[in-house]
Amino acid sequence: MRRKGHLIIISGPSGVGKGTVCEALMKMRPDLTLSISATTRKKRETEVNGENYYFYSMDEFNDLIDNEELLEFAQVHGNYYGTPKKFVMENLERGNDVILEIDVQGAMQVKQNSDEGVFIFLLPPHVEDLEYRIRHRGQDAEEDICIRLGNAEKEISTLNDYDYAVINDKVDECASTISKIIDAENQRIDMKLMNKYWREFND
Ligand code: 5GP
Repeated sequence: MRRKGHLIIISGPSGVGKGTVCEALMKMRPDLTLSISATTRKKRETEVNGENYYFYSMDEFNDLIDNEELLEFAQVHGNYYGTPKKFVMENLERGNDVILEIDVQGAMQVKQNSDEGVFIFLLPPHVEDLEYRIRHRGQDAEEDICIRLGNAEKEISTLNDYDYAVINDKVDECASTISKIIDAENQRIDMKLMNKYWREFND
């Protein structure tokens, strides 16, 4: 029996290592589909357009909003980020589990606008780790670092709105815990599917 895929939302404060964890998760679980976000942020040297993000001008991003092409969008650390809707919906319909690595505002929009979604929040082992990680990845200007650190506390305070909190101490262990959560969610009883199952079983 084919079911729709699950929408898996992964959030957490800047510096917690969401990108690295999602990368490890995708290696571990090639059956999962990672959504690539649209952003107005400047491309970092190591990033590739269409692989890490779709990079857009503000005008282009506004067009995506006006044409209702985004599932959610938010201004994060001074730039806009959003999830392309069509890609996500098509994959869910095909039965693929889709990973959204998005900020807490976007996650709350998804929560308000649909009755589905598995909400996972990543935490650092110690709050001081965030500053160390943001500074030592050497990708952001000092001004951006300060904005990101200032936002971290606000982001962590939204933890109660999530279904799961996972501590990212060791990347592979963290990715493996998320993988187990996804497996458990896939065993959840879905009454619509169960009714169909019983009807077929009794025929
Ligand atoms: P970064 O600039 O470090 O790649 O990402 C900054 C923040 O934007 C992170 O918290 C990341 O999760 C978030 N983000 C990335 N893509 C999206 C998206 O499509 N929607 C929202 N709301 N946030 C996103």
